[in-house]
Formats: sequence, C-alpha cells, structure tokens
Amino acid sequence: MASHEEDCSPDTLAFMELAIQQMASHEGDCSPDTLAFMELAIQQARLAMDSLEVPVGCVIVEDGKVIASGRNRTTETRNATRHAEMEAIDILLEHWQKNGLSKLEVAEKFSNCYLYVTCEPCIMCAASLSILGIKEVCYGCANDKFGGCGSILSLHLGSSEPLKSHGVPQGKGFKCTGGIMASEAVSLLRTFYEQGNPNAPKPHRPLAHQATH
Ligand SMILES: [Zn+2]
Repeated sequence: MASHEEDCSPDTLAFMELAIQQMASHEGDCSPDTLAFMELAIQQARLAMDSLEVPVGCVIVEDGKVIASGRNRTTETRNATRHAEMEAIDILLEHWQKNGLSKLEVAEKFSNCYLYVTCEPCIMCAASLSILGIKEVCYGCANDKFGGCGSILSLHLGSSEPLKSHGVPQGKGFKCTGGIMASEAVSLLRTFYEQGNPNAPKPHRPLAHQATH
C-alpha cells in the first residue's frame, strides 16, 4: 500500500487531497444533523462488522429523532434479503401495525421519514423504500454492483404514473443524496473484505482483487 504512495508525485497527492476536500464539501449540502445521523448508521455498520456481517448499517429518522436502526444480518439469519434497511423497516412496520395503524397511516408515517444508510440501497431495498414512500434517503458510498439509487437502476426517481393499491401510492420515488461520509463507509467494507469474509462461498477470488462491497 505504502509503495503506491511513493509512485505519486507530491502534486498528485495534493490533487487527491483537493478531490477529497471537494467530496467532503458535498457534506455542506447536509445539515449537521445529517452527519450525526450518518455517524449513527456507521456505528450500526461497525456492529455488523463485529458480528462478521458485511458492514452496512442504517437509521430511520422522524421529526429529528431516530425511530429505528438496522444492520446487515444476512449471515446470522441465513437470509440474503436481511439488509440493514429491511431490518429497520420491519421494526417500524411491526411497531405501527401493533399500534393499529392503517395502511394509509403507515404510508403517512413513512412519508415523513428519512433514511441514513452507509451504502447506496440495493435494487431490492430501493424498490421497497420507493413503494413505502419514504421521504428522503442519504447514503454513504455507492453500490456499484447492486445500487438502486443511480448506480444500476434509478428507482429513487419513481414511476411517472404511480400505481395505486388499496389507496396507497406505489413506487413514487424519494429524494436521494449520496457521498455522505463515504470514505468511512468504504473503509469499513474494505477492512471487512481485506480480512477475508469468513462467510464467503469457497473457493473465492483472491482477496486483493475482491470488490469493496
Ligand atoms: Zn438492500
């Protein structure tokens, strides 16, 4: 790793520094709260890492308060769909259904919620968030393989003619901002894969060439 840096001229490093600062200036679009909530999402990702899960975490916020958090639990549950977002969404659905909220009331609740997640939601999660009608999503790093918010599909843009099912709008999309504390999110994923994913199917590709997520 260090030897790569020696290949770079001081100018290259200065340029990269600038690029990083510019990336960081994106965070200027976000309120200080956004960074605080993303920090909580990163804490969830760290918990996932401690449990030998792919380190992705999230929190859902309503009225400035965290009302649910989730981390990737695909290994623990042996269920490839148990992404951080699904964990957090299910906590809320269960809670609101227990409180007797109707489908419309649940939709109303989601329309006031913000999701902060360390990695761009995959196609499955982005579709779910769009159908649930979440207000806004802020994510850390891009998900080049499975991203549903611009990388592979752009499900956050929603459908031009939202279908209605039982009076609940379907797939209306949501506002989405990426690149928030992306370097922290990537570094967790990189650490995880560099250590070797103990749950990866074997034989797997040489670790040095494994994707970061
Ligand atoms: Zn997902």
